[in-house]
Amino acid sequence: MEKLMLKNTKKYPGLEKYQKVIPDEDTALKLVADLKWKNGFICSKCGNTNYCKGKAIESRRCTRCKKIESATAHTVFHRCKIPINRALEIAYMVCNISAISSYELSRQLDIRHMTCYGFQKKVKECLTGENDDKLLKAILSVVHERVNSLS
Ligand SMILES: [Zn+2]
Repeated sequence: MEKLMLKNTKKYPGLEKYQKVIPDEDTALKLVADLKWKNGFICSKCGNTNYCKGKAIESRRCTRCKKIESATAHTVFHRCKIPINRALEIAYMVCNISAISSYELSRQLDIRHMTCYGFQKKVKECLTGENDDKLLKAILSVVHERVNSLS
């Protein structure tokens, strides 16, 4: 029993590194925005490529039609119920340990089981099969690069 409890409190070593490279929501949002618009901004409504900053962090406002697009719009993180750095943490774990159960995710990350279950499902659909999410893959690859460059 004691052994089992010890095993169950063990945290995945990569988590601490993740939290160093993505310490908060703003860092995660900036990463998403940088990669989403790495080839420039194109307004999803009118196609204009000029923008100014929107009110929300990392959001962009079209200078022509004034449509505001958040960093997470049209991404897997859109309308996420948890902070985006935590959602990305789920994706990071799923990517590193593909066989991890949603219960284990919930325990490791201290996020509600149903939240982990739902987002894990979404992430798996993005990373495998026909739902090829290049943005999420690019985001995760930058996170891995940053984690690997930590000494
Ligand atoms: Zn526009």
